[in-house]
Amino acid sequence: MITEVSSSLENEMNPWLAAEARFDEAASRLGLDDGMRKILRSPAREVTVHIPVQLDDGRLEVFTGYRVQHSVARGPAKGGVRFAPDVTLDEVKALASWMTWKCAVVNIPFGGGKGGVVCDPRLLSMSELERITRRYTAELIEFIGPEKDVPAPDMNTNQQTMAWIMDTYSMHMRSTVTAVVTGKPLDLGGSRGRTEATGRGCQIVTSQALKLFGLEPHNTRVVIQGFGNVGSMAARLMAQAGYRIIAIVEYDVTVYNDHGLDIAALLAHRNETGSIRDFTGGENVPQQDGLFLDCDVLVPAARENVLTSQNAARVRAKILCEGANGPTTPEADKILAEKGIFVIPDILANAGGVTVSYFEWVQDRQGFFWNEQLVNGRLEEIMVNSFRDVVGYAEKHGVHNRTAAYMLALDRVSFAMKLRGIYA
Ligand code: GLU
Repeated sequence: MITEVSSSLENEMNPWLAAEARFDEAASRLGLDDGMRKILRSPAREVTVHIPVQLDDGRLEVFTGYRVQHSVARGPAKGGVRFAPDVTLDEVKALASWMTWKCAVVNIPFGGGKGGVVCDPRLLSMSELERITRRYTAELIEFIGPEKDVPAPDMNTNQQTMAWIMDTYSMHMRSTVTAVVTGKPLDLGGSRGRTEATGRGCQIVTSQALKLFGLEPHNTRVVIQGFGNVGSMAARLMAQAGYRIIAIVEYDVTVYNDHGLDIAALLAHRNETGSIRDFTGGENVPQQDGLFLDCDVLVPAARENVLTSQNAARVRAKILCEGANGPTTPEADKILAEKGIFVIPDILANAGGVTVSYFEWVQDRQGFFWNEQLVNGRLEEIMVNSFRDVVGYAEKHGVHNRTAAYMLALDRVSFAMKLRGIYA
């Protein structure tokens, strides 16, 4: 009995099984034919590399890396690279498929891909990280490229990582190819607004949802889980828009202030002390209580499997804005639906990042760069339209937003596949 429970929980926590479950539901509702289902259900290509890297102390270590291209039906594969000690191929497969659906939801001309390297960045020096990144890139040289597969930052990777990927690729090509990655530093072909883009996208779709609920920004109480790139930017921009950020939930503590946290001061405190703990503008609350605080909007912006069958019943938000990829398991979805929580699914909510990545790729290819106002204006237009598309689709078909987003995406990708036909 105990093993049964633990194995069903283990299955629940497997992101690839979650991705398949969501895919199957949307495919059935769309009446997708068997052949198309087989094609779109599995990734087109999975590459595993074992990369030898010399550590600073002279020892040789071998790291495992993955790059999965789920689909290139609508354009080059697109998606981030994450560095984490617990990265698995199943996780990368799921994340790659989510990128396919995400790019289709916001209707940008990309397929979906994702990469990961099994390593613990906290234990590695900058030069070790650089060697890992460069060797990983070199091993993937024939698989990536502006027309093939375009990596970007994800968990524990950043502008510097992208600069190393761009340089390594360019050295192999014997010319500077900025469009091979996005999320680069501004001085190397990066786009204005890219760093803030995922958080900004979360803020834009949340503001659309608030209108549906008749909530004014100053009456809106927000809890954000995660204070990395996505969480901190979402917090900053939501606070700027007048929302009250009542709690930030981090891995070690939750910081709470019912009157609203001063996000700039909290960021400064974290940068100074390494943690949000003991911030004078709020109180420390046990970490695990943070997600279940009474609020209007909950933004999980950390990682997968945060809301599960074990805890979803305790969520007290009206709106769930999924800043992270895969924060909610399919089992938790059912519970949230019963509770009537309005879910803005990850493949819509966090699509601002890849949308500005698309703008970056376009700018690099043209060699002509946009100002921030243009980037943010175009991002807003795409996010608002996509939100309306998904919510409209949900109403029309009588399904929840997540299923609607998947159906919309599957419809677009399968249409592209049909137009292309099968090369034999
Ligand atoms: N890693 C981000 C995501 O999961 C961005 C991907 C990209 O810009 O290609 O959406």
